[in-house]
Formats: sequence, structure tokens, C-alpha cells
Amino acid sequence: MTVARVNNAKGVTKRKRLVSKLAARPGHQRRCFYCRRGFHGIEGITFDHYVPYRYWRTGRHDALVLACRPCNEDKADRIPWPLVWVLLRTYGTGTT
Ligand SMILES: [Zn+2]
Repeated sequence: MTVARVNNAKGVTKRKRLVSKLAARPGHQRRCFYCRRGFHGIEGITFDHYVPYRYWRTGRHDALVLACRPCNEDKADRIPWPLVWVLLRTYGTGTT
């Protein structure tokens, strides 16, 4: 989970720029990646490492998704099921 803390105008501008950049990617919108609800204002938007930071330590923007605070806190640093499914389909369980 990544929750940015913004305390000044410069931070708000930087945050808005990152939100716009992430929302402009193909398949993404200005809404929560998990529950698909739209955002009203910048305050409720958080940045989540889709692959938890402890597994993939990167600051790259393409590792982030926009998420509402409840979804971000719910996911915490778990690996999302769709990703687990893709990994299992690709690499198997190793028990063949
Ligand atoms: Zn959400």
C-alpha cells in the first residue's frame, strides 16, 4: 500500500500530475482500479503498487494503479488473485 501524504501546494500539483499520468494509460481511467468507482476530488485517491512493493521494489509509475483508500487498505500488500492466476497458468504449480 502506498498512501501519499500531501501537505503543500507543490505536493498537490505533483500528485495531480501523477494521477493524470496513471489515468491516461490504456485500460486505466480516473477511477479505482479495484472497485471501478470514480473519484470525486484528489483527496480520496491513493497510489497502490499492484505487485506489492516488498516483492517488486520499484518506483516506476507503471507499477502503480489508482485506488480508493478502502480498496488500497483492503488489498494491503497481498498479491492480487488475477496475477496469481496468470502466474500459475504460465509457470504451473511445480508439482507435475
Ligand atoms: Zn476502490
